[in-house]
Amino acid sequence: MSDFDREHIWHPYASMAAALPAYQVVSATGVRLNLADGRELIDGMSSWWCAIHGYNHPELNRALTEQAGRMAHVMFGGLTHEPAISLARQLIAITPEPLQHVFFCDSGSVSVEVAIKMALQYWQAQGQPRRSRLLTIRGGYHGDTFGAMAVCDPVNGMHQRFAAVLPRHLFADRPRSRFGEALQPGDIDSFAALIARHAGELAAVILEPVVQGAGGMWFYSADYLRELAELCRRHDVLLIADEIATGFGRTGRLFACEHAGVEPDILCLGKALTGGYLSMAATLTTRRVAHGISADGGVLMHGPTFMANPLAAAVASRSTALLLDSPWQARVQAIEAQLRAELAPLASHPAVADVRVLGAIGVVETKQPVPVAELQRCFVEAGVWIRPFGRLIYLMPPYVIAPAELRQLTQALTSGLALLPA
Ligand SMILES: *Cc1c(COP(=O)(O)O)cnc(C)c1O
Repeated sequence: MSDFDREHIWHPYASMAAALPAYQVVSATGVRLNLADGRELIDGMSSWWCAIHGYNHPELNRALTEQAGRMAHVMFGGLTHEPAISLARQLIAITPEPLQHVFFCDSGSVSVEVAIKMALQYWQAQGQPRRSRLLTIRGGYHGDTFGAMAVCDPVNGMHQRFAAVLPRHLFADRPRSRFGEALQPGDIDSFAALIARHAGELAAVILEPVVQGAGGMWFYSADYLRELAELCRRHDVLLIADEIATGFGRTGRLFACEHAGVEPDILCLGKALTGGYLSMAATLTTRRVAHGISADGGVLMHGPTFMANPLAAAVASRSTALLLDSPWQARVQAIEAQLRAELAPLASHPAVADVRVLGAIGVVETKQPVPVAELQRCFVEAGVWIRPFGRLIYLMPPYVIAPAELRQLTQALTSGLALLPA
């Protein structure tokens, strides 16, 4: 652990005045992180949903170095290149058929900003500028930039702190119906009432399909998503699916919308897009929206400096091919079955409130907030990398993890529960 790091470098959501320890990593290969002190950790996080193929993958390394030998970057204004074209072709081919237009940007949060701009500009160009608000569900997470923050959960998110500058959007109750179960009566009433009352001022509904990630790791009924999409159609409100966390197989389907057979008007992708190599995201939309934005002669008002970065695009393209050529579905199913078998018994632990598993995601929700630093030290001593937050200890390993390695993760998680207050 470096003193310089602790004194000078911010980590995510961290204090410079009371920094928590950060473990120094010198290399990572497969599902293993190698620490500076020689310890080796089995990775249970995929670096926050990203490293689906594991680390230091020879094919992804090759894609990156080959592209670096041609060009690392060129501006995307007035220029284009093969990596962007190949990747856009792949994304259009694997996402729902109506999504035919791709905007490449730097990060998930920015792709959400672009999605919101697309929706607002669409209605402006249709002569309906009053349609400028967004409707979402509680418990969501869409990123840390201002537009994205405004649609994160209003309580767990950062609304209080930034209330003076955040636009006020609408929040329906979080669905109670669990994934795999039918919609409970009344569960969609809050959403249905809000969309009916505010349709005339709504540009779009935005949500994470089926799996809410950083807002609480909650898995909700696919029926809810199906009915919500139907209500959007009925009230002519655009639907933005944020699949930044769920995309590329994590939930057992290539995209989580497939669980409900829903086709969004706008789709955000990020995180696993580059297999965890570089920061890149994409916002896809339909012909109706893409052409509609320019119905008044206007253009989409966004253009990042590193738009469609060739290195990121090349590695994303190879990562996507690698995923599609792999038995990813069988791998995710096997991880799901093992997580279910090994985490389910924890539901009766006195410190545990709930256990849930979907695809390659396993969540243990505790009754009390967990002591993060202490628990993390215990996990590192057990040779695993698990990063809990709030009342959530969760696993989302690279898809290439072996059963014995996954077993080490679930065993360490189980032992860690001994540190918790009941
Ligand atoms: C991580 C995440 C984002 C933000 O992506 P960044 O790349 O961190 O900006 C947005 N939406 C969801 C669902 C996410 O999981």
